[in-house]
Amino acid sequence: MTKRILIAGLSHETHTFVPGKTTLDHFRILRGDALWEADGDASCLAGGLAVAKERRWRVLPAIHMSAQPAGIVTDDVIEHWWAAFAETVMREARAGIDGIWLDMHGAMVSESYPDVEGELLRRIRELPTCADAPIGGVLDLHGNFTAQMAVHSNAFVAYRQNPHTDGKAMAEFSARLLDDLIASGRRAVTVWERPPLILPPTATGTAFEPMALLEARARGIETVHPDILAVNVFAGFAYADMPDAGVSFTAVTVGHPEVARRELRTLGEIAMAHKHYALPTGLSLDEALERVQQHTEGPVLIVEPADNIGGGAPGDLTIVLKGLLQHRIQNAGVAIADPEAVREVWPLQPGERKRVRIGGKSGGVGAQPLELDVELISKSDGKFTLEDPHSHMAVGGLRHDMGPTAVVRVTSAQGGSATLLLNSIKTAPMDLAQWRSQGINPEDFFVINIKAAVAHRQAYDPIAKASYFVNTPGPCANDVRVLPFRRLKRPVYPLDEL
Ligand SMILES: [Zn+2]
Repeated sequence: MTKRILIAGLSHETHTFVPGKTTLDHFRILRGDALWEADGDASCLAGGLAVAKERRWRVLPAIHMSAQPAGIVTDDVIEHWWAAFAETVMREARAGIDGIWLDMHGAMVSESYPDVEGELLRRIRELPTCADAPIGGVLDLHGNFTAQMAVHSNAFVAYRQNPHTDGKAMAEFSARLLDDLIASGRRAVTVWERPPLILPPTATGTAFEPMALLEARARGIETVHPDILAVNVFAGFAYADMPDAGVSFTAVTVGHPEVARRELRTLGEIAMAHKHYALPTGLSLDEALERVQQHTEGPVLIVEPADNIGGGAPGDLTIVLKGLLQHRIQNAGVAIADPEAVREVWPLQPGERKRVRIGGKSGGVGAQPLELDVELISKSDGKFTLEDPHSHMAVGGLRHDMGPTAVVRVTSAQGGSATLLLNSIKTAPMDLAQWRSQGINPEDFFVINIKAAVAHRQAYDPIAKASYFVNTPGPCANDVRVLPFRRLKRPVYPLDEL
């Protein structure tokens, strides 16, 4: 018998501490038969479609929506997805739906729903046609799984690798699992356990503890219990402020749920025994600046993951700049996204000075403007061509645009000095042409403040004498204790002592 499987997807990792909303315009939307556009590519959706062909499903394509990680999602995005999904179900209701396969991230937060995936699964189950249909699919291991998701689904499988080299493979695994369940008529349930632990993204690599240990144990559980069809280790996404954010485990089982629950509790105990990995690594800003002062030659990098532009941060924090000036460090280079400051200095001629509030206008965590006397050095339209065609930025083309851009120099009362690249459009530090296009050789700086975590390495590591990573406040803070959580269930480590 040909199985009639509804396929849909909704993917967003929502950083609730970043200012600005993620709207419908930000999403790539594939509706109906357009889902087949992904067929044959490297995506999770392609994995689902590959199995659909392999197992000869009659695919009922509903809608697939995905967007880059960013701020809270507007509710109309959720309703847009839901309308298309519900319409597909209505259309197919007469002939019936044998199963539902979903490609989701699992850390989506909208204006009204902290647990978007759980809310949508709840709605799906309320549709009479879907009340008993097995629901499975694939999730990112950075997903924040919830009780609601467990109750209203049967067989989700998470990636097992970070970096996510196995997304498509796990999508295929999850689709075959769903197909097998439907063929056998066995009913799988999902058991969920959540230890009170959140991890910063830097602690979620699967080649390192604690994830390596948890992954190995999860595979062991699958081997010992044939009734447990999949054990998932979710590292979670700490920057989505919702009750169940953080580490959790699920088991897809056709056996006794209590057996699976006992095993998941041991995973929770292992996670809590290694909870210290949730604490930040890296230096305080003062420590880093003291080390910088021991150098005689630059450039020395002060890497600030908290304001990681490529991770959704605003690129306008002034904490490092303030520290550099207070520590009397000479000849620092700092790029700051601040269209307002650019407008303020625009009327100046080179050599003229003005008192200007710099940066910190994004209004997010750690955002604080710094009032400084600046001297205009140059201005430009901010357009530049990458000097390294293999730069991390090359995926977006070779031509880049920082918007109207001004270079200013600042000398503090304490004696520190810095050159500021003020740009109107935030630009991740991934290519040296960002500076050179403005007539500045980054090699000439003594210190450079890098607002990134990893992506700057190709461009900046070859010119750097040393790199120091700092733990400072900001939307992508390595130290999750500094983030202003409101919805997260407490107590949770490392926010609370446990
Ligand atoms: Zn991920």
